[in-house]
Amino acid sequence: MSFWHPDVTHNQYQRQKIISGVTIAFSLTACSFTPASISPQSNTKQLTSQLHAVQVPQQKTTSQDKPQSQSPAKVENLSFSVPEKFQGQTVYHVQPHNNEKVIALSIDDGPWPKTTLQMLDILKQNNVKATFFWVGQALQANPEIAKQVVAQGHAIGNHTWHHWYRRMDAATAKSEIERTNELIYKTTGVKTSLFRPPGGVLNNGLAAYAKSQKSAVVMWSQTSADTDPRAKYEVFIKNVLRDAKPGSIVLMHDGGGDRKRTVEALPEIINGLKKQGYRFVTVPELLEMQK
Ligand SMILES: [Zn+2]
Repeated sequence: MSFWHPDVTHNQYQRQKIISGVTIAFSLTACSFTPASISPQSNTKQLTSQLHAVQVPQQKTTSQDKPQSQSPAKVENLSFSVPEKFQGQTVYHVQPHNNEKVIALSIDDGPWPKTTLQMLDILKQNNVKATFFWVGQALQANPEIAKQVVAQGHAIGNHTWHHWYRRMDAATAKSEIERTNELIYKTTGVKTSLFRPPGGVLNNGLAAYAKSQKSAVVMWSQTSADTDPRAKYEVFIKNVLRDAKPGSIVLMHDGGGDRKRTVEALPEIINGLKKQGYRFVTVPELLEMQK
């Protein structure tokens, strides 16, 4: 099996790699700790191996379950293209016509057992469509969950096969993206021109390949910061509600680790944004609204 890190920027990632490892190490003995007292040089190797111990879980099945079919989900719009002006471009947010209060929730690193389905239920109850950026190996492990996401009308983007941050050669970058595109299509019938680089890393070869294929490289303008291992879920809500602007793209996660707190935060994020007057759109819809 393969493993990956949750989404954070590279610097945050380096810091979080240390903190997460320390959290794991210390949680076993219930000690408190001060990150500043830890030497990154002496701990990085050991802590990296600890952080890697997040396995891509599969949805549990029983012998009574039907074999997983290869037929695509039956929904009408299975193509997520982008307007010409965004093809080959990097986008963080849009400026909508008339400064209309529209906002897009983007949800990364799934499909993932339990949390993806819980978030789907919350989105459905609130009549909200979001945009899911899938990791190929998670999709391979959870195809039936993926079909449910598509069947409920959410937009889909590509988030590479392995969720690597490192610099890679052109052939590897191509493989990371195309292998994932192929499995998205085979599993759900979806074709997508939305690409999000893991960790938001724009200079490791992945974004360059995506741009060469006229995809839009979709970043975000505000984050829930739900990969912070220490934050309470209330902080995720505050992070989103404090910074919401017309045309924002919000980052959150359904996979790549324990996303229980994101599930807890999601209903209040939706309600809070609705109270501020926002309407939820998918990323492809948002791109069409650029003035
Ligand atoms: Zn990610």
